[in-house]
Amino acid sequence: MGMMQDYIEEAERDLLHTYNRYQIVFDHGDGVRLYDINGKDYLDFVSGIGVFALGYGNKEYNEAVKSQVDKLLHTSNYYYNVPAIEAAKAIKKASGMDRVFFTNSGAEAVEGALKTARKYAYLKDGKTDHEIIAMEHSFHGRTFGALSVTGTPKYREAFQPMIGNIKFAELNDIESVKALVNEKTCAILFETVQGEGGIHPADEAFIKEVRKICNENDILMMLDEIQCGMGRIGEYYAWQRYGVKPDVMTSAKALGCGVPVGAFMMTEKVGQNSLVAGDHGTTYGGNPLGGAAIVEVFRQFEERKITDHVKEVGQYLYEKLDEVAKAHDDIKDHRGVGLLQGLEFDHPVADIINKALDKGLVLINAGTNIIRFIPPLVIEKSDVDEMIDKLNSCL
Ligand SMILES: *Cc1c(COP(=O)(O)O)cnc(C)c1O
Repeated sequence: MGMMQDYIEEAERDLLHTYNRYQIVFDHGDGVRLYDINGKDYLDFVSGIGVFALGYGNKEYNEAVKSQVDKLLHTSNYYYNVPAIEAAKAIKKASGMDRVFFTNSGAEAVEGALKTARKYAYLKDGKTDHEIIAMEHSFHGRTFGALSVTGTPKYREAFQPMIGNIKFAELNDIESVKALVNEKTCAILFETVQGEGGIHPADEAFIKEVRKICNENDILMMLDEIQCGMGRIGEYYAWQRYGVKPDVMTSAKALGCGVPVGAFMMTEKVGQNSLVAGDHGTTYGGNPLGGAAIVEVFRQFEERKITDHVKEVGQYLYEKLDEVAKAHDDIKDHRGVGLLQGLEFDHPVADIINKALDKGLVLINAGTNIIRFIPPLVIEKSDVDEMIDKLNSCL
């Protein structure tokens, strides 16, 4: 343990203390398992917060990334590169969106979506006082624009002022949205399933009503699918369960399965009536390395029928977690869909998570009282069984 403790002390001396980290230094991964630097193995039900969808040590993925490293890493957006072109094609096919802009992270994708909304409205009426409606308890990232639409006051408090003209409604409360819509509203933004805010899926009636409001008023419906997208709920994108389509959407996390990439996408109509040359840019976004990773991710999703697999294992996880929830009085709620589920307790869950780590199970919270289950999408039912056994021994 000595060495691990030394590294942790060094980290606490040198890194800015913006996270209360669990006391583990991970070294490598294999499939759905992680290994710390002492060789202890852990079943992973976090996947780096929904990033490593295809599991660790994935040979074909690693090969695709490595060969791109040897070939070409970067050229800038002033030139074309084949991996980015192919990645855009794959995203369009999966999402049905028409135009793609690549970023390096989720927050940057949200920033781009926000700029798209303002530009779209500006081109219509030339005004500069447009409003965006976001949701309470939402999470969209830590940069100023993304933070401004994040519905957790404590994240915003010390950093005021935020960008202006943001209003907050309640997810799944359509009246709270309607009360905020006016002629200045340019976009309604929400996560199709709220992740950090505690695994709250938007319900079908709400999504359809928002779609209707947006259609009637030429407002952009913008969905953040950074956590709940990329097969996580058993479809490529969570909104595909509902038969309605957003005008603008964001993706990141599992989009690159380890290589940091993000994207925001839009319909052709929005693409033709918003950002133009000079309006937006990025040095690294759309680089060949990220493109190669995305292409390989979609290739494996297709080949391994990941969305079908998630539907099946997700249902199994749902049944097993329901049994756990019924057996424990301190569990108040079980919710979620596919491989994005949560157990809400009537007390903080940090102790349970630490116990689980001791027993070789990686879990993560979402808020203080909720354990979030967000494993690699390639877990099998036997992994669910192992997780449930370990979890039960911690409750
Ligand atoms: C993680 C997340 C973000 C931010 O992504 P980063 O890559 O951390 O910037 C935005 N929206 C949602 C829904 C997320 O889960």
